[in-house]
Amino acid sequence: MSAAPIIVEVAVPSPLYRSFDYRLPPAVAAAPPPGTRVLVPFGRQQLVGMVLGTRQHSDLAPGKLKAVSEILDAEPVFDPELLQLLRWAARYYQHPIGEALATALPVALRKTKPVAGDNATVWRLTELGREQSPARLARAARQAEVLEALQSHPQGVAREALPVPLSVLKALQSKDWILEVAVEPGAPARTPAAVPHGLQLTKAQQHAIDSVREAGDQFRCFLLEGVTGSGKTEVYLQLIAPLLESGRQVLVLVPEIGLTPQLVDRFRSRFQLSICVLHSGLGDAQRLLAWRQAANGQACLILGTRSAIFTPLKNPGLIIVDEEHDGSFKQQDGLRYSARDLAVWRAHQLDIPILLGSATPSLESLYNVQQGRYQHLALAQRAGNALPPHMRLLDLRGQTMHGLLSDALLQTMHRHLHNDGQILVFLNRRGYAPVLLCHACGWVAECRRCDARMTVHRRRGELRCHHCGSQRPVDRFCPACGSSELLGIGEGTERVEQALGEHFAGQTVLRIDRDTTRRKGALENALDAAQSGQARILLGTQMLAKGHHFPGVTLVAILDADQGLFSTDFRASERMAQMIIQVAGRAGRSDKPGEVLIQTHHPDHPLLLQLVAEGYPAFATAALQERREAMLPPYASMALLRAEAAAAQHPRTFLEEACALAESLRDDSVQLWGPVTAPMERRAGRYRAQLLVQTAQRAALQRLLTAWIPCLDSLKAARRVRWSIDVDPMDTY
Ligand code: ADP
Ligand code: ZN
Ligand code: ZN
Repeated sequence: MSAAPIIVEVAVPSPLYRSFDYRLPPAVAAAPPPGTRVLVPFGRQQLVGMVLGTRQHSDLAPGKLKAVSEILDAEPVFDPELLQLLRWAARYYQHPIGEALATALPVALRKTKPVAGDNATVWRLTELGREQSPARLARAARQAEVLEALQSHPQGVAREALPVPLSVLKALQSKDWILEVAVEPGAPARTPAAVPHGLQLTKAQQHAIDSVREAGDQFRCFLLEGVTGSGKTEVYLQLIAPLLESGRQVLVLVPEIGLTPQLVDRFRSRFQLSICVLHSGLGDAQRLLAWRQAANGQACLILGTRSAIFTPLKNPGLIIVDEEHDGSFKQQDGLRYSARDLAVWRAHQLDIPILLGSATPSLESLYNVQQGRYQHLALAQRAGNALPPHMRLLDLRGQTMHGLLSDALLQTMHRHLHNDGQILVFLNRRGYAPVLLCHACGWVAECRRCDARMTVHRRRGELRCHHCGSQRPVDRFCPACGSSELLGIGEGTERVEQALGEHFAGQTVLRIDRDTTRRKGALENALDAAQSGQARILLGTQMLAKGHHFPGVTLVAILDADQGLFSTDFRASERMAQMIIQVAGRAGRSDKPGEVLIQTHHPDHPLLLQLVAEGYPAFATAALQERREAMLPPYASMALLRAEAAAAQHPRTFLEEACALAESLRDDSVQLWGPVTAPMERRAGRYRAQLLVQTAQRAALQRLLTAWIPCLDSLKAARRVRWSIDVDPMDTY
């Protein structure tokens, strides 16, 4: 009698909300553990799936079960803890499990190549190899590439992380420059952390550090609310140091590493060990290397953006989420997860402490403090000799304006320059002018694919749509009436740069926005010039607002505070307040006091008044109260079903069918709003509509979504649209 075949449950990257059963080939005696990748037949394809577990019985008849084609890994690539996190995320965010798992895998592992286990080897430089300069290998570019990679990773690099043929490695080996050695798993390089000379922690810093240390090896979530420049980063660094020394790993999530090279440098120079830096610009091979080093414990400090939350950790001791309020922690397509929320979930599961830090915490986190779920730690004063910046509203009504620059502002700027100060001018609108208007007939240049206006980019002579990226040359004649009187109306950073250049001849004006920093290295150079004080006037968008430490800045000017005051999105005022406080926080971070001018036509607006007079905490308390009265998050839970199609009626039809289905499944606490067309109905040539689901009971929302979402693809209208579900959406448009 032959034994029953072993059945494995496999998650396959497909849009289906389920896993699939396969049998093991007869030659395989034992089932691979969960988290192992397998190659499986799926339709006409062979796909890389992941084993979730084994089963005694399948709903499929034994004859219908297909066999696993190949087991790809000797050891699982996801450990049980990570697998559990991902299964939870797939359920909570309503995403097909196979796709969720694929999202978390480094690209190199989504392909069929097997990944060697811990007892693999790495390539390393020899003494001789260390003395070679890659530049001298100009003719052997691939050898140079290997040399460079190994020089920046003294502990060695795995074969599969070196994207060159074996012959290249052999060539270097025959020169006696590199050698292959066995990896000693879990033997990280330990280095003491040098505390900067003479730095004396403030009482508040010490209290924060003591509180987190007291949590020891247990889950506890802390919210570190520290005003800008209060020394939050120093708290992180001193918490991390002893953990690294005892061989524990620390995962640090940050919003955008590209924007904060200074932060990475600070971690690097403090610990003098190779830090795993994970961000979207990383090549597949580098990402795989980092992933493996984190998994086997070689990398102790993992610093990364959103997706780094899925890094395997061998011996984690602490998770830190810096600037926890930042919107970039929410993924906006596919598996729409919040890395901050997953980080809290993961810390809970790992039973380790987690620290969320910000000068402007999200209302969600403040609410969790009120509920007693998070412990609040405050750094109310700036560190060192720095004083809080002095904020003032500048009433623009009736003022003489030069574009967006008021007389009063220009005078203040002159005063600061005269006193050797540095100035940061903030405008969150790039380009030259946001509108191109015909003076003769009123025609306005619009995007052909969106319900939006084109922005004039003068230097390049282009009109660009900031919503879909399409561009075309600036019209010379009005397409409606033929007039040549076309005017650029309104102000973007490019135009303000020009105006500043005229008003402050002889001073360096440095514009930092997405247009000026496209080239590789351009942002780093600009930030260096900003930090050194060499550029006297800095002008930029939110790129300049985030986390930077420019010690020379004494004046911050927010040119247009009115932009965000009247948005319909319920999070708009929160975002606006955070942005103003963060930008303002760039002023007076060193010895010289800082001044902040906020230009507005609405100096009586309650949000602005309160922010300036009482600061962020008072604003947040009031904003939470409003959310409570309106039954909005965090007092309610939301999900947004979006649909889009090339024809306007399809999204509506689909959402109406979806709404009817939800009506039959929901319980009384759940409300359905819509469907409605999206505020910008057409974007990138597609029509968009949405349906909002809201309830005061999170569990009721999850119950509805779990029953509802997997059925949506079988609706009649589903074939005509692209739809997505966004749980805990950041925007409701
Ligand atoms: P945050 O992260 O809160 O914006 P940082 O950690 O960047 O603040 O600190 C701002 C500046 O103050 C940095 O230059 C930092 O080295 C310095 N600093 C931090 N803590 C102290 C302290 N206890 N005494 C003196 N200077 C400090
Ligand atoms: Zn015209
Ligand atoms: Zn467009």
